[in-house]
Amino acid sequence: MNETYDVVIVGGGAAGLSAALVLTRARRRVAVIRGGAPRNAPAQHMHGFLSRDGMPPLDLLTTGAAEVAGYGGELVDDEVIGAESAADAAGFTLRLAGGRVLRARRVLVATGLRDVLPEVPGVRERWGVDVLHCPYCHGYEVRDRPIAVLGGTDAGARARAVHVALLLPQWSADVILFGNDMTLSADERDRLDARGVRVIEGAVARLVVDGALRGVELADGRAVGREAIFVTPEFVPNSAVLSELGCDFDEAGWVRADRSGHTSVPGVWAAGNVVDPAAQVIVAAGAGSAAAMAINGDLVLADTQVRVGARN
Ligand SMILES: Cc1cc2nc3c(=O)[nH]c(=O)nc-3n(C[C@H](O)[C@H](O)[C@H](O)COP(=O)(O)OP(=O)(O)OC[C@H]3O[C@@H](n4cnc5c(N)ncnc54)[C@H](O)[C@@H]3O)c2cc1C
Repeated sequence: MNETYDVVIVGGGAAGLSAALVLTRARRRVAVIRGGAPRNAPAQHMHGFLSRDGMPPLDLLTTGAAEVAGYGGELVDDEVIGAESAADAAGFTLRLAGGRVLRARRVLVATGLRDVLPEVPGVRERWGVDVLHCPYCHGYEVRDRPIAVLGGTDAGARARAVHVALLLPQWSADVILFGNDMTLSADERDRLDARGVRVIEGAVARLVVDGALRGVELADGRAVGREAIFVTPEFVPNSAVLSELGCDFDEAGWVRADRSGHTSVPGVWAAGNVVDPAAQVIVAAGAGSAAAMAINGDLVLADTQVRVGARN
């Protein structure tokens, strides 16, 4: 069965639901396809969202989904597994894993990203609890405690590890950067030293976990007590739908989009972590809202042009 919507939103996280709220309140026919958990699902609490600080991540989405449903938005617990431009004015066709085929005049992709964690034993087990990545999300929760930062030899991870290590003394005076075989420049060492961050060289063998993170064990057998560790995952956008729709990507693999999230393909927008890995929940929600207003404006423009054309 084919079903046509003004807008199909792929992804029901903060970005997707925030867009859906704006679009349903603009009286658009909207479907939100919700496949899987949001990125921050491993964390017990979400921080830094004004008026929602400390709320469990799933509670935000449950509340948001109810608001969207209250304005007539359709929430579909399914996954988009195929997308293409339609040959007619409907714009786009989206195939769901459950078999439904939806047609949409406009598409907003808000599918988030995947965190590829370093392959150090213990990291996956404690991810989102005492293995963390964002000081602004959970630095306050581990304030004044012995904190580690896990370095790495990959260039991106290396730069982010130094960056995070330089930030963390804001929250604790006891921060150790475990080099994990990465090479630090003299300038980086100077800056870390100036911030009071200690550096311990050598490969990391595993995290010591006993109900909670207890420390970091090095390949040479040394163990150093720590209560939290910040790691630098590789961020991989969930961008299959954007690829299938023919959007342009930059050299690093992120979709190209303007400030409203409009991609290189007319009628296709992207918002949240799928386009901006640095976006926290409040920023992702704001991006969804901005994209929604741009999408509604685009639909108004298209409908206006059709009517003006019909008159002349
Ligand atoms: C451990 C951890 C803790 C964090 N803590 C905080 C915090 O305290 N405060 C904060 O501001 N930020 C925090 N973040 C960041 C936060 O997770 C992101 O800012 C936020 O999730 C981005 O929202 P989003 O809507 O872009 O993506 P998401 O919330 O990830 O939502 C995207 C949704 O799309 C779904 N999806 C993907 N592909 C498809 C498909 N093909 N079809 C249908 N659905 C699909 C996904 O399953 C997911 O449900 C944390 C991140 C992590 C990893």
